[in-house]
Amino acid sequence: MILSDENIARLAEIIDATQPKRMVVVSHFNPDGDAIGSTLAWRRLLKSMGHEVECVVPNRFPSFLSWIDDVDKIRIFKDDAERCSQIIAEADVLFFLDLNNVSRLEEMSASFEANTKAQKVLIDHHLQPMENFFDLMFSQPDSSSTCFLVYKIIERMKGVDVIDTAMASALYVGMMTDTGNFTFSFLTPDLYRAVAVLVEKGIDIARINVEVYNSHTEQRLRLLSYSLGPKMEVFEGGRAACISLSEAELRRFEFQQGDSEGFVNYPLSIKGVLISAMFQQTHRFIRASFRSRGDMDVNIFARRYFNGGGHKNAAGGKSFVSLKETVEYYKQSVSEYFKEQNIE
Ligand code: 5GP
Ligand code: MN
Repeated sequence: MILSDENIARLAEIIDATQPKRMVVVSHFNPDGDAIGSTLAWRRLLKSMGHEVECVVPNRFPSFLSWIDDVDKIRIFKDDAERCSQIIAEADVLFFLDLNNVSRLEEMSASFEANTKAQKVLIDHHLQPMENFFDLMFSQPDSSSTCFLVYKIIERMKGVDVIDTAMASALYVGMMTDTGNFTFSFLTPDLYRAVAVLVEKGIDIARINVEVYNSHTEQRLRLLSYSLGPKMEVFEGGRAACISLSEAELRRFEFQQGDSEGFVNYPLSIKGVLISAMFQQTHRFIRASFRSRGDMDVNIFARRYFNGGGHKNAAGGKSFVSLKETVEYYKQSVSEYFKEQNIE
């Protein structure tokens, strides 16, 4: 990953400690480990430099992230839209972390129109970031997580001495979750060097693993079993799969936000499956998650068929028809996409 001297110099000027500013850090809807980890690490850096910092995310985050230091300082837009909008309107600098498009902020996105004076800085690793919105962009699709990108920016700008144990733990959470516990792509030597530094800072990897991966409810495990049993469909001669869950089914398993995190990965563990999808009904639309193997590009797939996007092997989107129709539409879309790619 290469960070340009010019971008680093411009960022250093924006966060210059001799001029305390009102800074607001925002991240995406349905915040995940990378969104929350990068937001908290960046907050910690800005606060240590004497800035006034607020963090806002559109909706609540899953409980397996609630142990992270200062996570209670993050404001939830949905819970207090008025105050959050005011905070955004009054900011001198706005940081957008782990998102490539303001639409990923859902209802929160309208708040930015009221603030035309703030400098807007993007720090993200998704493909195709929104052009002409940000004043400064750190867009690194070759970074496995936003947390790793934040680490590289801090290392370059301030040196790793400014990283304490709390910041290191927050950064590790995003590096770990966005790589599927270091099993996906972009697992570079530099990433492991960063992890080594975080270990030197005193992070407790065994504990973080337990907090993030082994702190679920019984109902969540039963929902997983149901999703993989009665609800998983495999088609296209074993090349494609999906799981779909209705609101009624989610209620039956006392669904809490974050419970279905990672379910979409399981069908991809079947030999031969190239694309996996998970469709989850919400009161407004069907949320879609896609995962793929190798050259199968779900960023393109999600953009074309599901108003979404993301990365080559992990993307998401939305559907506004019924769950049944969504699954049918997915099957047709996969068939069309496979034909185009000459996949038998
Ligand atoms: P997940 O399936 O974990 O929700 O999302 C996978 C990836 O796709 C994430 O990197 C996420 O940021 C991105 N993503 C999820 N939903 C959407 C969406 O509706 N639009 C876009 N552009 N990206 C999405
Ligand atoms: Mn991310």
